[in-house]
Amino acid sequence: RVRCARVLQLTLAIIKPDAVAHPLILEALHQKILENSFIIVRRKDLIWRRSDSERFYAEHKGRFFYQRLVEFMSSGPMRAYILAREDAITHWRELMGPTKVYRARYTSPRTIRAQYGLTDTRNTTHGSDSPESAEREIAFFFPEFSVQHWLEMEEPCFR
Ligand code: ADP
Ligand code: MG
Repeated sequence: RVRCARVLQLTLAIIKPDAVAHPLILEALHQKILENSFIIVRRKDLIWRRSDSERFYAEHKGRFFYQRLVEFMSSGPMRAYILAREDAITHWRELMGPTKVYRARYTSPRTIRAQYGLTDTRNTTHGSDSPESAEREIAFFFPEFSVQHWLEMEEPCFR
């Protein structure tokens, strides 16, 4: 069969509760994903329990912002995506901008966090930071998802 020219990488993106609360922002971010040539592999709207939040962000346990992060991430609906693209991880993180909203506004005003972020905690989006975390985070949100199966069955190939 014909092989695809694109070398795809997967990443896990989250639209956090601050943005999902505003339908126009949610829609704008969805459009941004499409405009940046990501393939939306899976998508899920969900609300975390506090224990989900604690488990997902376990690496930050003990940091001064951990409690407010955990609280915020389980405060309302969020949307998770599995996105595919060349360099998906880096590209999505570039679109997000720096973690801290005020830094983002200063250094990269066209990024998502600069444009929509409210505070350093309520910063609109999450993106995996490495292939290892992408794998872990995709399994966290989509335990039923198999990369191998997706590649075999649904690898988009437009030639
Ligand atoms: P990123 O989301 O950019 O990968 P981290 O993994 O360092 O950033 O932090 C996870 C999340 O914790 C951030 O997206 C943000 O919501 C929150 N957070 C990180 N650092 C701070 C901080 N200094 N003050 C408040 N919240 C923070
Ligand atoms: Mg991180």
